[in-house]
Amino acid sequence: MSLRTRLTAVFAALFGGLLIPFLFFLYLYLTSWFNTDLHELTEHDAAEVVAVFSEHDSLAVVLKDLHRTEADEFQVQIRLLDETGKVILESYGFDGVTSKSHAVSGPWGQGTLGGTPYLIYRTAVTYKSINYICEVWKSAEGLGLLKDRLRLIFGFGAPIILLFSALVGYLFARRALSPVDRLREQADMISSDDLSARLPLPRNRDELHRLTATLNRLLARIEGSFDAMKRFTADASHELRIPLTNLRGIIDVNLRKKRTLEEHEEDMGDALDEVHRLTHLTTNLLTLATIDSSKQSLSRTKTDVLTLLKEVIESARRLDLERKLSFVLNAPEMPSVNVNAELVRQVLFILVDNAIKYTPAGGRVTLSASQTADQLQIDVADTGEGIQLDEQERIFERFYRIDKSRARAAGGSGLGLAIARSIAKSHGGQLTVISEPGHGSTFRLVLPTPTN
Ligand code: ADP
Repeated sequence: MSLRTRLTAVFAALFGGLLIPFLFFLYLYLTSWFNTDLHELTEHDAAEVVAVFSEHDSLAVVLKDLHRTEADEFQVQIRLLDETGKVILESYGFDGVTSKSHAVSGPWGQGTLGGTPYLIYRTAVTYKSINYICEVWKSAEGLGLLKDRLRLIFGFGAPIILLFSALVGYLFARRALSPVDRLREQADMISSDDLSARLPLPRNRDELHRLTATLNRLLARIEGSFDAMKRFTADASHELRIPLTNLRGIIDVNLRKKRTLEEHEEDMGDALDEVHRLTHLTTNLLTLATIDSSKQSLSRTKTDVLTLLKEVIESARRLDLERKLSFVLNAPEMPSVNVNAELVRQVLFILVDNAIKYTPAGGRVTLSASQTADQLQIDVADTGEGIQLDEQERIFERFYRIDKSRARAAGGSGLGLAIARSIAKSHGGQLTVISEPGHGSTFRLVLPTPTN
């Protein structure tokens, strides 16, 4: 069921829910008001009738008088009964009528005369020291008519009003929802080719304005992700093309020219370097993809940080054959932490590998660690060339290298820090850098350490 239909139904149901009790109470009020009025009139007429008795000497004259004027004037029928209930006098209305059935208890009662309903009022009359009962019969036909009319009006009127309210509800819902429809149409027109398009903001600062603004922010985020993806694909293809072009060049030369054995060996060595570069690049790309897709399901094990740091330092020493840097470990014994040891080791390798690549001979690389109740902090500091302030965030972008040719020559593809930061984030932690150009850099890895 559409929102418009639902709103219309709710509106009609609400309106009906109010209208029907209202009409019901109106019916009760009008009929009871009419009834009270009828009783008051009858009482008043009875008083007038009783007054006639005192004006005349004989009952026969009283009856004549009542017949002649009062009964017509008051539109009532009158009966005089003695104390035993025997009818002494009665007005014309009682003559020849088919029914005078009645039930009286107390002063009030009801009866019918010739099929017409009557309200009966009984009052005591003393005439010439004899007690009588005077019955005044007043036609209650009006009350029945009023009830019939009201039922007819309400019976026909209520459905018409309800239908009308449903129509008003429908038009109202259509009008209220038409901006939503427009918004949907405009959103439908935005394709993945043109993610720079934004939805026009409505003039009124209402819920729709906020929804549109939220959708626009969502579009901006999607556009950002799309752009990043495009850049990534372009960068990745570019990075893959370089070693492939180099390889093709080497093979080309070997096919076209006669090469000596030494030249041939040298070419094979170069070709192997390019293949290594390709392998390194594809491994890194695969690592990034794996981390991105496994962010939700990171497996953690109890890991001894000090042992891990010692292993990293050992590997670093083996790696650094040329520059003879000094490696310093600055960490106390600490309880095991719950992390993914493989991934944390990978981050440390990336940071230490960079520190070796970008620190001149004689420099120092320091690994320090500290722990609080709920987080682990590992710093990898070097005494290398440092990083300019405006580059400090960019180096974490995929494929970003400060000096492309130098970094490539050092075997870097610009993916190392991107991978390291992704790993930190997959642990719910962060990786940042503090650096002063010319004085070295410190990369800080902070990881939350959940107890289970
Ligand atoms: P690469 O594989 O090229 O090293 P990274 O993502 O690891 O890629 O690093 C990106 C860039 O950040 C590097 O090209 C380098 O310019 C800079 N960088 C990284 N680590 C350091 C460091 N310890 N000292 C100075 N510059 C660094």
